[in-house]
Amino acid sequence: METHSDYQELTSLLKRLDRLGSIGGLLGWDEQVNLPSASTGLRAEQNAVFTEIYHREASSPKIGDLLNRLEEAKDQLSPDQAAVIRDARKNFDRLTRIPAEFAARRAKSQSIAFKAWVKARKANDFNDFQPYLEEQLQFARQEAEYMGAAHAYDYWVDRFDPGMNCSTIERLFSELQPELQAIVQHILACPEQPDTSMFKGFPIGEQENFLRQVVESMGFDFDRGRLDVAIHPFCGGHGQDTRMTTRFHEDNPLDSLSSSMHETGHALYEQGLPDEFAGTALGEAVGMAVHESQSRMWENQVGRSRAFWKYWEPVYRETFPSQLARVSSEELYRAINKVGLTPIRVDADEVTYNLHIMIRFELEKRLFDGSLDSRDMPAAWNETSTRILGYTPKNDSEGCLQDVHWSGGAFGYFPSYCLGNIIGAQLWYTLREQLPDLDDQIAGNNFQPLLDWLRKHVHSRGRRLYTMAFTREVTGEELSTKYLVRYLKERYLPLYTAS
Ligand code: ZN
Repeated sequence: METHSDYQELTSLLKRLDRLGSIGGLLGWDEQVNLPSASTGLRAEQNAVFTEIYHREASSPKIGDLLNRLEEAKDQLSPDQAAVIRDARKNFDRLTRIPAEFAARRAKSQSIAFKAWVKARKANDFNDFQPYLEEQLQFARQEAEYMGAAHAYDYWVDRFDPGMNCSTIERLFSELQPELQAIVQHILACPEQPDTSMFKGFPIGEQENFLRQVVESMGFDFDRGRLDVAIHPFCGGHGQDTRMTTRFHEDNPLDSLSSSMHETGHALYEQGLPDEFAGTALGEAVGMAVHESQSRMWENQVGRSRAFWKYWEPVYRETFPSQLARVSSEELYRAINKVGLTPIRVDADEVTYNLHIMIRFELEKRLFDGSLDSRDMPAAWNETSTRILGYTPKNDSEGCLQDVHWSGGAFGYFPSYCLGNIIGAQLWYTLREQLPDLDDQIAGNNFQPLLDWLRKHVHSRGRRLYTMAFTREVTGEELSTKYLVRYLKERYLPLYTAS
């Protein structure tokens, strides 16, 4: 009986923290979308006050006492309750073991490192950024030490994808890498490459009009969310008030469309999480990798499919009649599915993208195991990129300075993107078996059966299980790279034939 009331009290405190955290999310969204340029100083102070309040609330001794009591009574807990306690303990330990002074020092160093990264990338000189990278590495190692982690990189992988570890990723990536390289070689050897020169002069108003129709058809609830413009596309906010952004270029209309479908995939997951469990493992996403599986599935498996374009091509042509007047359906479809070697990860197609991630995974591992000195990063990056991707960067901006992540201390984050593709493909084949008419439904602009399936099997489950167990339960199989390989072969090999 006492356990029951302790549990009730804990979950209501956690829900309160969820609500408090969502205020921080709004501050962050507003900063990206609305903040006047001269108000950044005030916002930095607001953020600092907010972080202090959140930290105090989330690390209150009351939560610690409740967790201790509930852990002592663990025999009386249901599996769901045990999952809630497991994650609440993890979060509470992180907040209480890491000194507030350390967290504040690191937050400050990250905003300085971000500015240094912007400057170094502009100047195209890694040496200007190296001391800041080194400082972020020290902070990352120190945090892992505070948390008593045996391996610092494993700790960081787990931070973004609970339950995941380095050796699992190593195994999956080493299976996947040669398969991807073979597909890329096949594609690059094809004499007839897709022509994307038609994507010029697409007015922004029309682009926005088109993608809003797509986003709404996918099932994004505009009564509980918004879509705005920002420098970088993201999905933030809360499941009850989801804030997505996109960006527009007149000469790159596929960027706004595919990034919006991507962010909508994230948003549908957030909007599908059960709010009655907000703030607990039952109301949160499994982790970054499963989150990415949702965004990538909508962006790629759906958004680049013939079924999707069967419905949307006529609408696209009606929206951009002169731009597409001399382009055949097949030419348009091939342009949408163009694969090629590009130096920049965020511009990469869905085949080579995974190789970009493998470069970063290998280098991060080496930074943490001490076999790579951060001062040697440019040469190491170029060597790894040449070996894995088959592309040698021409300079640091094209190579080791291209991503913002390290300036913010986000080590261990990159693998989630590729894991998301692996999980997404496995989910895709599972759901296709259960939804035999999926292609016809998509071709009829009916995404409801797909969304219903994802709601039932992915979104509503929260984080009862971590990534590997979750995938096993939903797909009936261990996580395997074979589905991603199969999907990429089915999609791309017929588009790139030798003759
Ligand atoms: Zn994403």
